[in-house]
Amino acid sequence: MNRIAVIGSNMVDLITYVDRMPEAGETLEAPRFSLGCGGKGANQAVAAAKLGADVVFVTRVGDDFFADGTIANLQACGIDTRHVRKVPGASSGVAPIFVRPDSGNSILIIKGANAAMDAIAIKDAADALKQSSLIVLQLEIAIEVVYAAIDFAAEHGIPVLLNPAPAVAGLDPARLAKLDFLAPNETELALLSGMPVTSLETAQAAARSLVDNGCTHIIATLGEKGALYVGCEGEWHIPACRVNAVDTTGAGDAFVGCFAKVWSETHDIRTAMEEAVAYSACSVTAFGTQSSYPDSAAFERFRD
Ligand code: ATP
Repeated sequence: MNRIAVIGSNMVDLITYVDRMPEAGETLEAPRFSLGCGGKGANQAVAAAKLGADVVFVTRVGDDFFADGTIANLQACGIDTRHVRKVPGASSGVAPIFVRPDSGNSILIIKGANAAMDAIAIKDAADALKQSSLIVLQLEIAIEVVYAAIDFAAEHGIPVLLNPAPAVAGLDPARLAKLDFLAPNETELALLSGMPVTSLETAQAAARSLVDNGCTHIIATLGEKGALYVGCEGEWHIPACRVNAVDTTGAGDAFVGCFAKVWSETHDIRTAMEEAVAYSACSVTAFGTQSSYPDSAAFERFRD
């Protein structure tokens, strides 16, 4: 059994390239528009699936025309979409993004159907979850769904990884203690530990404090500093690969998706982190989020 269950969000990115933002009451023509598939849950599911993992994704879409496009995109990546359900009367999750000529951007997030997923979704997907070798979670859905999934995983002895993104304060310490893997970025690590994270050393200290409070394995991503492990297997740091980074959006999700795939096959944390550092580095060399994630053939070429 080697199946990854991702429970989380999906979003449609509505990317408008603007010369400038319109004033209140003004209608303005913009030069270019593109649609993209995103959402942290979907990104992580897609990264793992592109690498050849068997992935089931538990999420909610609206009953609008974005829903079928989202499902088609997931299926094209080979993801099991039996637990992607449409929520009557809800919009799909969308992110209108405005990109200015200097590459600066303004982003709105409308969670839509993602916010409508409740803890019943976990019971509903119980059979699929029980057949999984790893459950992967993030925080773009209601916290009670995340907690229900952690409790379910603990009850059934299924390893569980939480990518605590976006950063949220006040997570239940009892639930954090039930996790096998906690995978924060620097901002999330600082928020969860209550300690500043500005360097490798401060990241190590913050991660140690989380281990002292019951987390088994902390896998912290540190942007261009790479990734850090602190946990019951010791401590190590894997420097980032040197690449020409053009767009780092979704690098954290690429890391998590690749880590999940490799760990669920090998149960070797260091190897999974090394692969994830390389995979996320490859993703930052291309524009876009899911579109920047290489499949296994492209990833092999990158590694050569
Ligand atoms: P995002 O929110 O954009 O998904 P994140 O903040 O969750 O990103 P980061 O810690 O910035 O995640 O990056 C994840 C991983 O991507 C890092 O651990 C690193 O291995 C890789 N990475 C990020 N930026 C670079 C870079 N400039 N060069 C090489 N690798 C990078």
